[in-house]
Amino acid sequence: MLASAATQLLEHYDAHARVLPWRSPPGMPPPEHYRVWLSEVMLQQTTVATVKPRFRRFIERWPTVEALAEAPEEAVLQEWAGLGYYARARNLIACARVVAARGGFPTSEAELRKLPGLGAYTAAAVAAIAFGEQVAVVDTNVERVIARLYGIDRPVAEARPEIRQLAEAMTPADRPGDFAQAMMDLGATVCRPKKPACLACPLSNDCAAFASGDPERFPAPKAKKARPHRHGIAWWTTRDGAVWLVRRPAKGLLGGMAGLPGDDWHHDGVPTRTFATVSHGFTHFTLDLHLVERPEPAGDGWWQPLDLIGEAGLPTLYARAVEAALSRKHELAD
Ligand code: SF4
Repeated sequence: MLASAATQLLEHYDAHARVLPWRSPPGMPPPEHYRVWLSEVMLQQTTVATVKPRFRRFIERWPTVEALAEAPEEAVLQEWAGLGYYARARNLIACARVVAARGGFPTSEAELRKLPGLGAYTAAAVAAIAFGEQVAVVDTNVERVIARLYGIDRPVAEARPEIRQLAEAMTPADRPGDFAQAMMDLGATVCRPKKPACLACPLSNDCAAFASGDPERFPAPKAKKARPHRHGIAWWTTRDGAVWLVRRPAKGLLGGMAGLPGDDWHHDGVPTRTFATVSHGFTHFTLDLHLVERPEPAGDGWWQPLDLIGEAGLPTLYARAVEAALSRKHELAD
């Protein structure tokens, strides 16, 4: 079944591969290593639709890994604004500098893994797609496809070693990069979490979940853990049409990004003087960020003209906080 499933999947990929700015067409030589690496880092936790235009802009601004290695960190963080998970941007710069200094990317999964910011998934994806190494590339989409194909009805967290073994056994020696991308495409567009399009799936003849008549049941959902909720304060200080912004400390959440000054987000409940609040979900907690007016600016920062706020490189949380503050001020003025 394994060999035939891989062949069928590659045939399907040849006809239906998604056209993406970081890819080569099926069966063609791989794209530049830099493009593969950059796209895989951008795609960690961010959707293809969001990444596409941002990838193009990034490549125009820094067309090679050497150019990126020489870029000032602040410029890269600003370009990254809105993509989230800012530790990725900092690792991106660190990695570009290591790669430029050694004269290029290492070519094996094991060596790629040693670069800053390359976890197991990204190292495997770059090794398979850019260098044709026969390694399994397993993300959450691929885990779901394999669990369904083999009728694994336990939660993925429990079945992970088994799923990985099956993925390794399925990965062909020929075209492992195309195979990895075919699996990613299948998980994203056909074997979706809800309502998988089994009738359009090249693996349906071999698929245990499809044969069961209820493919969505595979794998079992993971038990939901409630995320803790926090409150934080952001200081709102304006003068002559400008708002006071600071750069966040390099380490920690949104590290190195521009933002409103404030506390450490461990405020005990809602502050009485707040005039606007935005809610935001991080991976490990949810946050209500309360805006509080403050007459004098706090911390080292700068006055950012409000009509140029789009150029400040604010991450989504602070961009939304500024929007909420301005709209509330507008309401109060009416
Ligand atoms: S047949 Fe359906 S459940 Fe099975 S792999 Fe294809 S899309 Fe997924």
